[in-house]
Amino acid sequence: MNNGFSTEEVSPQRWGFTADDVKKTAACVTVRSVLAEITSNLNPLDSKPIILFGHGDPSSFSCFQTTPVAVDSVEAALRSSKFNGYAPAAGILPARMAIADHLSKNLNDKLSADDVYITTGCTQAIEVVLSVLSTRPNANILLPRPGFPFYEARASHDHLEVRHFDLIPEKDWEVDLDAVEAIADENTVAIVIINPGNPCGNIFTYQHLKKIAETARKLGIMVIADEVYNHLAFGNNPFIPMGNFSSIAPVITVGSISKRWLVPGWRLGWLVLNDPHDILKKHGIIGHIIDFMNMCSNPATFIQAAIPKILETTNDDFFSKIIDTLRDAADVCYDSLKDVPSITCHSKPEGSMFVMVKLDVSVLENILDDMDFCSKLAKEESVVILPGFAVGLKNWLRISFAVEPASLIEGIKRLKEFCKRHAKKQ
Ligand SMILES: *Cc1c(COP(=O)(O)O)cnc(C)c1O
Repeated sequence: MNNGFSTEEVSPQRWGFTADDVKKTAACVTVRSVLAEITSNLNPLDSKPIILFGHGDPSSFSCFQTTPVAVDSVEAALRSSKFNGYAPAAGILPARMAIADHLSKNLNDKLSADDVYITTGCTQAIEVVLSVLSTRPNANILLPRPGFPFYEARASHDHLEVRHFDLIPEKDWEVDLDAVEAIADENTVAIVIINPGNPCGNIFTYQHLKKIAETARKLGIMVIADEVYNHLAFGNNPFIPMGNFSSIAPVITVGSISKRWLVPGWRLGWLVLNDPHDILKKHGIIGHIIDFMNMCSNPATFIQAAIPKILETTNDDFFSKIIDTLRDAADVCYDSLKDVPSITCHSKPEGSMFVMVKLDVSVLENILDDMDFCSKLAKEESVVILPGFAVGLKNWLRISFAVEPASLIEGIKRLKEFCKRHAKKQ
């Protein structure tokens, strides 16, 4: 049989890839790739248990187990045998309705099922939005620094230009709105905010969210609100959904059950249009979203079918227990790092599961930068922390405090010993 491909012809050039292309793609920084490199430094002969402060998936720890309500809901959906078929591209209607109702509880402009698209985790919701935006010629998008590197990786894949604005550590990581105005131009299509914050553990105030919306309006762009940590708030500021400002500028909210219900492996997320003035609709964005989703595979139908019961019947005790655990962990982390000379923590985390701390390598002996710090820390103390460069800030560290309380205390103790041992002699 000859289909036009002879084995001799099959060379990398045949497919249009060069070694350089492959290298370029592999060079995209993701949290996963950086953590893989850090963990490769772990010393297998070290008898100390490994402590992971690096990632945002605490589901393996006993104090971060999901609620039995969620497990029972999935089991019931699966056993019913009613959800073994394909789901529509936008998701099954009862799940879309339940998500609309669930999110509407905290919104002035209520959502309907039509505003909700079910995605494979929040990750796919991000993929969908960025891919849709990248179809506009010369478009650029504004991303926070520090941020969540998947946005950069995905935008680069879609050839969507990225421009960064800073979050200001001295101002509880608020958006530098002057910078936003300075970097935007007529090709800017959207600004991304992540609230509650990853990697900063901050929560934006009502006033600040309103100012972000007003800036977006002034620039004629939409807001993409990553609220994957919605309601994981344990400080002074309550979590307020960006959707409440959608009459000022249109908002696309992305989220999932991954973080709040501690089931990131279930891959159930959403993309939600907060568009009371039909601006996104008039500009054809919705048609694009549907076209794109028709090309994707979506979350398992029985997980979708479990969503109404999960959202409607999870009791508040489950949420408050998780919030209390996170608040205690944030306190321990903040209080015990305060007196480490090489580390500065600008503000106590108020949400999500992370804190960003500044590393002063000038007071450390034989530590080049954040990557070197984290590699040596893994090697010497079996503690894994994410170097800040992975989220856009060199010589900072992102610490995930969503770990078992005993491991948190032990891990911070080792981190402090490491800093002490590497401190420059006066
Ligand atoms: C974890 C995370 C995501 C991805 O969420 P999934 O539901 O697991 O796909 C998206 N954005 C941010 C900021 C995250 O931390």
